[in-house]
Amino acid sequence: MAKKRIVICGEPVLRRQAKRVKNIDGRIIELLGDMVETMLENSGLGLAGPQVGESKTIIVVRPDPEQEDVLELINPRIVETEGEEEGLEGCLSLPTLRGTVIRPQRVVVEAVTPDGEEVVVEGEGLMARALVHEVDHLAGTLFIDRVEPDSLAWLRPDDRKESGYRLDPTTMEEALAAFERLRKRRSEA
Ligand code: ZN
Repeated sequence: MAKKRIVICGEPVLRRQAKRVKNIDGRIIELLGDMVETMLENSGLGLAGPQVGESKTIIVVRPDPEQEDVLELINPRIVETEGEEEGLEGCLSLPTLRGTVIRPQRVVVEAVTPDGEEVVVEGEGLMARALVHEVDHLAGTLFIDRVEPDSLAWLRPDDRKESGYRLDPTTMEEALAAFERLRKRRSEA
């Protein structure tokens, strides 16, 4: 397994409709393994193919942030949603940006495992949020498309706070410009 570079907001692959996986071959299985490693190393709750530059409908999701158990899902499809829940959301492709997004409280997802088995995954709360967020990526949708614009903020480390961080309000324009600069710096590095 190898850690992959995470694609930053502004790269076209994040806005493309990902391609459905027809054959679960060694390459897909290896890619999923790489995505798991990349997600865990970056302390993410989920990661989608386009975020590592692969326009394929595959996602990895961590059902419990405290655990390293990971679901690897191929061609995931949301088949049921229930309720609504407001919550603060972030994305490894939009580093340190946070914003409030309303997501279903409960979802049911159908997918195929790396073993080729069809599975039904149910998620509530944070897990439902992670599943919908990752499935959104496969259609080229980012959380900033669904965010309450006034809630956008940068998550900054802050020792004076009990939580160890603070939220500095920002705007969509400011955030997109910051990611543009970050992409430039990375491509020059
Ligand atoms: Zn994301």
